Amino acid sequence: MDIFEKCRDFDSDRMYETFGSLVYFRSLQLSTHPGEVVINGRSVVMAGSNDYLGLARDPRLAEAAIKAVRLDGTGCSGSRPLCGTRDIHEQLESACAAFLGREAAVLAPSGFQTNLLLAGLLGKDDVVLGDRDNHASLVDAVRLSGAHYHRYRRDDVARAEGLLAEAPDGAGRVIVTDGLFSMEGDLCDLPGLTALAARCQARVVVDSAHDFGLLGSTGRGAPEHFGLENQVDLVTATFSKSLGSAGGVLAGPAEVIDFVRSRARAAVFTAGMAPSVAAAALAALDIIRAEPERRVRALDVAERMHNGLRALGYDTGNSVSPIIPVSVPGQDRCLELWHRLLEAGVYANPIVAPGRPAGREMLRVSFTPLHSDTQLEQVLEAFAAAGRTTGVIPVAPPGSWTPVRVARPLSTAPSIVPPRSVTSPTAPTALR
Ligand code: PMP
Repeated sequence: MDIFEKCRDFDSDRMYETFGSLVYFRSLQLSTHPGEVVINGRSVVMAGSNDYLGLARDPRLAEAAIKAVRLDGTGCSGSRPLCGTRDIHEQLESACAAFLGREAAVLAPSGFQTNLLLAGLLGKDDVVLGDRDNHASLVDAVRLSGAHYHRYRRDDVARAEGLLAEAPDGAGRVIVTDGLFSMEGDLCDLPGLTALAARCQARVVVDSAHDFGLLGSTGRGAPEHFGLENQVDLVTATFSKSLGSAGGVLAGPAEVIDFVRSRARAAVFTAGMAPSVAAAALAALDIIRAEPERRVRALDVAERMHNGLRALGYDTGNSVSPIIPVSVPGQDRCLELWHRLLEAGVYANPIVAPGRPAGREMLRVSFTPLHSDTQLEQVLEAFAAAGRTTGVIPVAPPGSWTPVRVARPLSTAPSIVPPRSVTSPTAPTALR
């Protein structure tokens, strides 16, 4: 059997075209107008990027990146242990560790690869519990390590406890979860998970890809939001969302980070992050520290748009964040709504099979603090008209609906998170 056979059967046009227009892999250019992108020469409101703080086009990031290119060139031409480490990497690692209140941090060239670093820490006898909606990169990290992986539903931490209790003596126990879920926009049950970890002597790893820079009183993410940073052992985060750059970071106790840096294959056998990318992320961290009003506006905009959509009759699920999952069951209806919104000058992300099971199709909608009130109104008007035409919402708005309150900071941050101790016989192999 030829491994290319499946490629001949794969009809990407059939999968990705609707109403004569390309749904996925569409080229979008950033517009000079904040909050907009250009598609086929036409400017439309971007209601779907992960640029949660509106930093991807910030001139300060661009300037920092250009300076880094001039100083260090466009690529590192080598792995970090050999000739691929630059001062900018070390500065960014220190800045991330300080920002997150952790002893140390190590970079990886993408957020995906950051999570793969965890494979270097896990052994085949370890038992890992993960939320069933965890990001693919967390799942792949566990697969690569050969550790036992069990999934739980985040509304069923009791099942997670049962699974951990069954772990053999001597197995390292780890709970791994997204902080903020990338599709549903809801938070993990960190209080429940950390309490479980304490009872079961398990380590806790949070992937803060979507909450880093955005949630918590200083932007340290979901662990800070819950006031539980000292119950979380390791944090991973990406720079490709709120930080407007690319790459990612793993932060935690110095001994663990040192081990990962020199032992994890995803850290050792890859070229250092491009200096311009690191410099942009470093500039973004400074801005996040200096301009907390961006976070406040991002959350205000999110709350307003959740509630504006709900007032029209849309269901935005359990999200409490700038990730707004607009439920549109039925692939055809979902794509039709997406198409009509685009015609009305609004780009949203259609999430259908294979990314979403049948009946749970949705439009993933998000905004930045830079969207103007006029743009936000335009989006709501487009959703009203397109939703009524497609029958996704009733013609008359609902008499009542439940308002959303977004995840505003619950706690103030401690300055440094002390490493947590776990009884050693059950700690993951590498932590023993
Ligand atoms: N973790 C989560 C939860 C994500 O949603 C993503 C990407 N969307 C990643 C990790 C990977 O990040 P990156 O795109 O920066 O590689």
